[in-house]
Amino acid sequence: MRELLLIKDGEIALKGLNKSTFENILIKNIRRRIEDLGKVTVQKAQSTIYVKPAADDYDIDEALERLKKVFGIAALSKARMTEKSFEKIAEEAVEYLSDLLPFVHTFKVEAKRADKTFPMTSPELCAQLGGVLLSRYHNLKVNVQNPDVVVTVEIRDFGAYIHAKKHEGAGGMPIGSSGKALLLISGGIDSPVAGYMMAKRGIEVSAIHFISPPYTSDRALQKVETLCEKMCDYMGRIQFYIVPFTEIQEEIRRNCPEELFTLIMRRMMMRIALRVAKENGMQALITGESVGQVASQTIGALACTDAVCDMPVFRPLIGMDKNEIIVVSRKIDTFETSIQPYEDCCTVFTPKHPKTKPQLSQILEAEMSYDFDPLLEKAITGIQLKTIYANR
Ligand code: ATP
Ligand code: MG
Repeated sequence: MRELLLIKDGEIALKGLNKSTFENILIKNIRRRIEDLGKVTVQKAQSTIYVKPAADDYDIDEALERLKKVFGIAALSKARMTEKSFEKIAEEAVEYLSDLLPFVHTFKVEAKRADKTFPMTSPELCAQLGGVLLSRYHNLKVNVQNPDVVVTVEIRDFGAYIHAKKHEGAGGMPIGSSGKALLLISGGIDSPVAGYMMAKRGIEVSAIHFISPPYTSDRALQKVETLCEKMCDYMGRIQFYIVPFTEIQEEIRRNCPEELFTLIMRRMMMRIALRVAKENGMQALITGESVGQVASQTIGALACTDAVCDMPVFRPLIGMDKNEIIVVSRKIDTFETSIQPYEDCCTVFTPKHPKTKPQLSQILEAEMSYDFDPLLEKAITGIQLKTIYANR
């Protein structure tokens, strides 16, 4: 197989001494994301990662699509590998680009000569290869400023590589390079976007979801699983914790003032999430909250929620408005699932007049009205864990 993928990493290139640690994590993530597609060799050399399929019938387009969603990759291209002789390069370029060059108007050639022993200079290589392509494809004109296609030839240690289409990568840092965190995921628009944003910073994200059967249905849970599957396009796989939350909600409703209901419930969620995080080596929580969006997301309300948390709570959407969040949600393909109208445990018990300026002292007092600890323990014992993969 002479076609392969060339991958350029992004921010990793800026790392100093531990650059190779980051690169090795990226390589592991690359391997894992395409492991079911067939055998490949993955090598790094001269700040490029090469993914070389072993078999001729390898589905390189599928690999390309998947790797576009691997964080830590700035750009990637399919390329043809050939011998380092001008004749071979010209012959292969004419043939390899025959499904592209007849359909565009302008082009230019760029040469990168990492192997300085190659007998032509880069400008010579560009000029001569440009000449060959012009003589074969009469529709083409050279445009150096703004060409439809840039034909790139890279002369490297192992061979020459020809490619013409550079795809943008997902950017960010490789997952696993920044530790682990637990995403509180609802079925809504915001939390999947929050998870995506933190995963992009290199965090390995697990998810936790609270259900309240019979008030919430199996289909509502299924919807959240679908959201996790979609996030797996970016995250590879997700550990998904499902928490039975009905009894806690019922006791809050029975014992606490209605106007404080949502906040107390959110504090209970945080307590459980903290336990799961700590017991599984995660160092932070993630939520989809954004200042002012709903009553439980005023500064005062967030302070009351944070008061139970003894680890960082990341809220990457905190300063975004809904339209900005929706743009990302569409990009990661969670939007259409998120807007399906299923109930969430947060919405089935919503108070008519939630407090927007809650006093922590009132909340603490309300929480004292009932011994929630045994119920928290029971909920934690009842947690169901599933490993979610992308649905292919
Ligand atoms: P989303 O669009 O993510 O549902 P939202 O704007 O609807 O957010 P809320 O319903 O108040 O806001 O929830 C705020 C945050 O609390 C969510 O972003 C999510 O992180 C968490 N959350 C809400 N419901 C649940 C649930 N059932 N299980 C786990 N986390 C939840
Ligand atoms: Mg919600």
